[in-house]
Amino acid sequence: MGSDSLVVGAGPSGLLAAKEIASRGYSVKILEEHGQVGVPSHCAGLISVEGLKRIGVEASNSFIQNAVFGGRIYSPDGQCIEIRDARPRAFVVDRAALDQHLAEMALNAGAELVLGRRAEKLTLLNGSITGASGAGWVEEARIVIDAEGPSQRLTTAAGLTNNRRRPLLGVNTEVACEIDPTMVEVWFSEETAPGFFAWVIPTNERQVRVGLAAREGDPTRLLARFIKKRFNTVYPSPRAGQVLLDGPVSRTSFPGMLLVGDAAGHVKPTTGGGVVLGGLCAIEAGKAASQALESGATDTTQYDEAWRRLYGAEFRSMKTMRSLANRISDERMNRFFATFNKAKLGDRLNDLVSEGDMDLQDGIIRRALSEPQLIRVAIGGLGRLAFAELRDLVNI
Ligand SMILES: Cc1cc2nc3c(=O)[nH]c(=O)nc-3n(C[C@H](O)[C@H](O)[C@H](O)COP(=O)(O)OP(=O)(O)OC[C@H]3O[C@@H](n4cnc5c(N)ncnc54)[C@H](O)[C@@H]3O)c2cc1C
Repeated sequence: MGSDSLVVGAGPSGLLAAKEIASRGYSVKILEEHGQVGVPSHCAGLISVEGLKRIGVEASNSFIQNAVFGGRIYSPDGQCIEIRDARPRAFVVDRAALDQHLAEMALNAGAELVLGRRAEKLTLLNGSITGASGAGWVEEARIVIDAEGPSQRLTTAAGLTNNRRRPLLGVNTEVACEIDPTMVEVWFSEETAPGFFAWVIPTNERQVRVGLAAREGDPTRLLARFIKKRFNTVYPSPRAGQVLLDGPVSRTSFPGMLLVGDAAGHVKPTTGGGVVLGGLCAIEAGKAASQALESGATDTTQYDEAWRRLYGAEFRSMKTMRSLANRISDERMNRFFATFNKAKLGDRLNDLVSEGDMDLQDGIIRRALSEPQLIRVAIGGLGRLAFAELRDLVNI
C-alpha cells in the first residue's frame, strides 16, 4: 500500500492541503512535474496582507518584494479613481519563492515531495480513485488530492471533468521604470484588454510587473501595445497562463479524490486571483481528507459542503460582479467614472475599501450596493436596469 494521501501538483493549493494532512500525522506524498517548485511562474504575485495570514503564512522577506497601499483605476478614456488606505493592503510576492516557502512548510509538517514526476492518469477501481500513474510508475493512496492547476488534464482523462470553462489567457512580464511603489494600476478598456483589464504592479520603485488577460485577441500583442503606450518601451517575452473567471466547478469531491485550487475553479471571478481563496478551500480539503483517513471512508463530500458553507456566497457575489463587468461597454464605464468623480465619492469609497476585504468580497459588494450615494452614481453610470439586475442577483 502507498501513502495515506497523494497530492498531484506542488502549487500553493496542493502544498497547503498537504501541510494540513501531514500536520495531522498522515503520510502525504506530493508529486510535481517540474524539477523545481514554483518554476516557471506566470503569476502577477499580488496577495492581500490579510489573505496571507489567513492561509497560515507569516510575512517574510524571503518571498515579499513590496507592499502596496492601494490602486489607481483607469477608465477607457483615461479618467482615474484612486483608492488608498493608510495601511499596506497587499504584498507583491515572488511567486516561485512563495511556493518554495509553502513547500518547506509542508515538508516540515512531514510531507514528502517528489520533483520531476508527472502524473499521466488517475487510477480507478470500482468507481473510486485509488492513486495515479505515469511513465514507469504507479502510486497508490487512500485519498488523492488533484491540485494540478487549471489544465484539467487528469480529470478529463478520467472522464470526471464536470464543467465547461472559458479561461482567459493571461500574460505577465517585468519592465524597468520609475514608479510610485505604493500603488498598483488597473486599466480597463476593450482595446487594451477585451473582457478583463491590464495591471501594473510595482515590485520596487524601479520595476513593475505588468500584464493583462483578454477574452479575445492575442494577449502578447495586446500587452506589447499597452507597454508601449504606458511605458514607451519594449519588454522581454511574457509568461502566459490561464485565468479562470467561471467560479467553482460543480463537483469537487469524488470517491477517494478531492479537487483543490485552480483544478476546483477556486479563483476569484472578479480578479482571477486564486492563491488565497484557493488556499483557504485547500485547507478545508486537507481537513476533510484527514477525517476520511481517520474514519476509513472514501466519501469526502464534507469537503464540498465545507467550502460552500464558508465561501460559497463569496464566489456567487464575485461571479455576479464579473458577469456585470463583462457587459459594461467602454462608453458606460467612462460615464460611470465621470459620475463618480463629479459626485466626489473618493473618501466614501476609501472608507468602504478600508473596511472591506480583498479576498472575501461579498460583504463589501453588499455594503456598496446599499449606500444611497453610491446607488445614485451606479444608476447614473450603469443605468437603472443594470443596477436593479445587480442588486437582484446578490439578493439585496
Ligand atoms: C497571468 C496570471 C496572473 C495571476 N496573478 C495572480 C495574482 O496576482 N494573485 C493571485 O492570487 N493569483 C493570481 N493568479 C492565479 C494563480 O496563479 C492561481 O490561482 C494559483 O497558482 C492556483 O494555485 P494551484 O496550486 O491551484 O495551481 P498551480 O499554481 O497552477 O500549481 C499546479 C502545480 O501542479 C503541477 N502539475 C500540473 N499537472 C501535474 C501533473 N499531471 N503531475 C504533476 N504535477 C503537475 C504544476 O507544475 C504546478 O506546479 C494569476 C494567474 C495568471 C495566469
